[in-house]
Amino acid sequence: MLVNLNSILPNARKKGYAVGAFNTSNLEITQAIIKAAETLKSPVIIATSEKAIKYAGIENISRMIISMAERARVPVALHLDHGKSFELCRECIRHGYTSVMIDASHLSFIDNVRLTRKVVRYARKFKVTVEAEIGRLAGIEDDLKVKKTEAIYTDPKEARHFAEDSGCDALAIAIGTSHGAYKFKGTPMLRIDILKEIAKKITIPLVLHGASGVKIKWINRVNKYGGTLAHAKGIPDRLIREAVANGIAKINTDTDLRIGFTAGIREYLAKNPSVFDPRKILTSAHDLIVEVVKDRIRVFGAENRVC
Ligand SMILES: [Zn+2]
Repeated sequence: MLVNLNSILPNARKKGYAVGAFNTSNLEITQAIIKAAETLKSPVIIATSEKAIKYAGIENISRMIISMAERARVPVALHLDHGKSFELCRECIRHGYTSVMIDASHLSFIDNVRLTRKVVRYARKFKVTVEAEIGRLAGIEDDLKVKKTEAIYTDPKEARHFAEDSGCDALAIAIGTSHGAYKFKGTPMLRIDILKEIAKKITIPLVLHGASGVKIKWINRVNKYGGTLAHAKGIPDRLIREAVANGIAKINTDTDLRIGFTAGIREYLAKNPSVFDPRKILTSAHDLIVEVVKDRIRVFGAENRVC
């Protein structure tokens, strides 16, 4: 069933769990995300970045996901991740996306509000939900590159004003996570105190980006078969659970799926050097992504949330 964020996130926030937003750019990853969500009876958000759209073609990727979402046994939202312009959001809405993110967090507060409000006004006409962002995360996601020194924690007071003035349906905040596979050099830490303050002031669902677990068991599988992902470090499960308990209702995950994809293929090719059937090779990636997505859904507390 194809839905927007308002059919799944407010309920998650109220009941204290988070819905996973998983990035895709092809058939196999999308199939794996839906399979994991159906198996665990969890609502799910399928996200595409601007680069994923360019890679696959907007016609191809939107029609494929919408077709699969409509036939899924769980609620599925099709969401634009980190939309940088009104035009891109409009393009996605025209292609049937049920949700868009307008990320104007690099602009001034007032310009961020203005652009978000413009997207909200347009999206409302099509019953499409809008996520916005305030504060800045470090790291790299597609074309977005933010240095650690440029990262800024979300100010709780600003967040409240922003939510009221922009009319967005969900708000991404910065509390110490970062994009990519190298999130921490030392001990992982999130500013749960800031999250608590924000959650006190804002009732709409809050969103955590850059929240992949980057678990050592998956990294080891990549490295065992020729990969070189040394020193990768993600967010421990206990910190994710603490964030969810304090108001995070949507968690974005891309890196973990990429690691799963890579581990699956590296292992399969190493063990089956004579195979050259793309279906067999990609099935190994699909199968490991199903495991990764199931792991994340359980950590987010979203298992068995669909009757
Ligand atoms: Zn993000």
